[in-house]
Amino acid sequence: MTEYAIEARDVELTYADGTKAVRGIDLTVPRGEFFGFLGPNGAGKTTTIKILATLLNPTGGQVTVNGFDVRTQARQVRASIGYMPQETSIDPELTARENLRFACESYGVPRGDRGERIAELLDLVDLADVADKRADGFSGGMRKRLDSATALVHRPPLVFLDEPTTGLDPKARNRLWEYFERINEAGTTIFLTTQYLEEADQLCDRIGVIKDGDIVADGSPSELKRRVGGEILDIELADGTDASERAATVAHESDLFESGVTIDVTDDGISITSERARSHGTDLLVALTEAGLTVTGFNIRAPTLDDVFLAITGERAEDVEDGSQDDTAGEPESQPSEVSQ
Ligand code: ATP
Repeated sequence: MTEYAIEARDVELTYADGTKAVRGIDLTVPRGEFFGFLGPNGAGKTTTIKILATLLNPTGGQVTVNGFDVRTQARQVRASIGYMPQETSIDPELTARENLRFACESYGVPRGDRGERIAELLDLVDLADVADKRADGFSGGMRKRLDSATALVHRPPLVFLDEPTTGLDPKARNRLWEYFERINEAGTTIFLTTQYLEEADQLCDRIGVIKDGDIVADGSPSELKRRVGGEILDIELADGTDASERAATVAHESDLFESGVTIDVTDDGISITSERARSHGTDLLVALTEAGLTVTGFNIRAPTLDDVFLAITGERAEDVEDGSQDDTAGEPESQPSEVSQ
């Protein structure tokens, strides 16, 4: 086994209709890492994960997964990975145990190992009590837990989780997080795509941000936050958007902040990212008041991943999450060299 679970060089994928979904990305994921792949809708996350899981052939570049070439050794790649797709792969008519037994058969888990393996996974995802109940009565969170267990029956050293918690309530999401942490602590490399920044912040050792098919940032959550530079000054204003726009102009024209400072107009005021947020914040309040604006709130804080995402992609994560809620699209219209499992 090589040192890296994933090594990808200059990977490209252009769909049959000419859409360049992945534009020459380089990516290495060491064994044992919990890697998060973030990006706005349509950035190329699912396309990348499908290339790594051998469901799409790249149109350019080199990719090895667990040391196997995705083009020429697809069978070996598949045997060495687990893949939890966005859409559920469980059969609602079967019980939890039957679903896992079916997964064992599909992955060729030796007959003699199946009983113990299934019991172990049911325990791990807290479904032992409902093991013999049909999955159609399960909540969204239970289904997702069962889904993730089915991706692990063959004890793969690497699992791909494509937006595993989208649409779940916070409690169900937390339970899945605990479970992902447990499998990662047991040595499994995890490649997770998510639109929830809090999820990436909580779980991931390292995060890659993809935008328009390119990786535009890469680092640990704290490195990425440091890269934002400085602190965030949030100012709440009375009188809505007009006041916020005026406040942004006052802040820009005040010369209190470095040139090129990021001033974001938010729902209830402005947000300034600056090395001088702390030292010049009160001076700005005076300038805003002198300009006739009413400040109703004022706060200085460290950057969050949300701020990182905004700085890097130019989009707020809330916009992204809203999009995810109605993301009910089925399979894409045109499929280049889609490989059946
Ligand atoms: P989301 O968060 O919405 O799932 P994503 O980051 O996973 O987005 P992809 O699904 O990989 O993004 O899509 C990347 C780009 O490729 C988008 O512009 C998308 O419209 C396009 N695309 C995806 N599948 C196809 C296809 N089969 N044919 C043509 N274009 C496609």
